[in-house]
Amino acid sequence: MIVFIMQKATRFLHLMLNVFPRRHLIAASVVSCCLLILVAYPVSDAKANKQVSEQLSIPIDLPALETSPLIEVEPALRWIEHSVGSGDSLSTLFSRAKLSALDVYKVTSSKDGKLLRNLFPGESFRFGINQSGKLAELHYIQSRLLSRVYSLEGDSYTSELRELEPDTLLSYREGIIKDSLYLSGQQASLPDKVIMELANIFAWDIDFVFDIREGDSFSILFEEKYLNGEMFAVGDIIAASFTNRGKTYDAVRYTDASGRSSYYTPEGLSMRKAFLRAPLDIFRISSGFNLRRKHPIHKMIKAHRGVDYAAPRGTPVFSAGDGKVIAAGYSKANGNYVFVQHGQTYVTKYLHLNKKKVRKGQTVKQRQTIGTVGSTGYATGPHLHYEFLVNGVHRNPRTVKLPQANPISANELAAFKLATTPVLIQLAQSGTAVELAQLQQPTGPQTDTANAN
Ligand SMILES: [Zn+2]
Repeated sequence: MIVFIMQKATRFLHLMLNVFPRRHLIAASVVSCCLLILVAYPVSDAKANKQVSEQLSIPIDLPALETSPLIEVEPALRWIEHSVGSGDSLSTLFSRAKLSALDVYKVTSSKDGKLLRNLFPGESFRFGINQSGKLAELHYIQSRLLSRVYSLEGDSYTSELRELEPDTLLSYREGIIKDSLYLSGQQASLPDKVIMELANIFAWDIDFVFDIREGDSFSILFEEKYLNGEMFAVGDIIAASFTNRGKTYDAVRYTDASGRSSYYTPEGLSMRKAFLRAPLDIFRISSGFNLRRKHPIHKMIKAHRGVDYAAPRGTPVFSAGDGKVIAAGYSKANGNYVFVQHGQTYVTKYLHLNKKKVRKGQTVKQRQTIGTVGSTGYATGPHLHYEFLVNGVHRNPRTVKLPQANPISANELAAFKLATTPVLIQLAQSGTAVELAQLQQPTGPQTDTANAN
């Protein structure tokens, strides 16, 4: 029996060896050893169990702390905490803690003391005062994960950086678009930052203003950061899938050999392409945008060969791609306008702007704000009129064939596949698990917080 269990345990450890980092293995080994001991020395009944616990509760004869000449117990410090508000300096914070200008001087003139010169709102300080009223320890807490501790030694302070490593867990969510991506994301309990990141990942393939339809769906794996068991931040999206009008786009995050993280298709093509589908901040539109209640200006490709995006005045307008501003001016019909040249082949035009944010001759990056939505020129209401020209000919920016995306370099493709395949499998399996869980509860309520349908 014991031999059989040990065989099983060994096999399990071999399996774990392939899956988990060493640190986890040590913990796992300790747990396994304890389990083996428990199996090898079974406690036959409750009475014996009780004996064990009674034995454990017998006080062990150790020398008491005060009788030991080797251990010197430091008297506890009195702690005061103050957070940095706007306009606060070290002096104001010290005086709030009833400390003097001399204390400020002593800390700032010590090693790393000049790091206390630039304080930011949101940071905080913990002052540890000893029994003689001196500042014995100063904790400069820059974030949940990062703090610097100044300790009094003799008459000056030493400094030490303390960094905490958060635990990162992967979280899965899925949803079906009902009214807008933003609202459906919220219904799927996705933090705003993750919803926006999701839209950014697919911004080169999907026009989130025009192309989104009721019934479109998404699934997503993203990081959640935990400290002492408490979730305090969301991290990056690791993998995501978006089905738009029956076509599914998959994306997976990969950090290449040069340390640059980006999103790719499972085949290793960059999600990032030469042109954005919708050249404006879609969340300023879609947070209040309802698919059922379309503004007449939406979904209308005018005879004058452009696309109109109705959007609140002031919505940032982005350059659809990297390029150079070839015109930025005003005319009676166009209002404030900006034209951008992209390489030899493409020109994009942005009309009726409320404000221009670039000048002629300036180079711009993709997604750089070049102006804001307005209604200058011949416009019935605030909207962006967007034109796309290929070799001087107007094309429909929503259907025009755009340049191919860059693939991951051939010599990195094997590493890419190795790193991303398990993540994509996990994304797919999480979805299946949710579906199975729903199938197994046929009598339960059909509403599921993780599935906005
Ligand atoms: Zn127009």
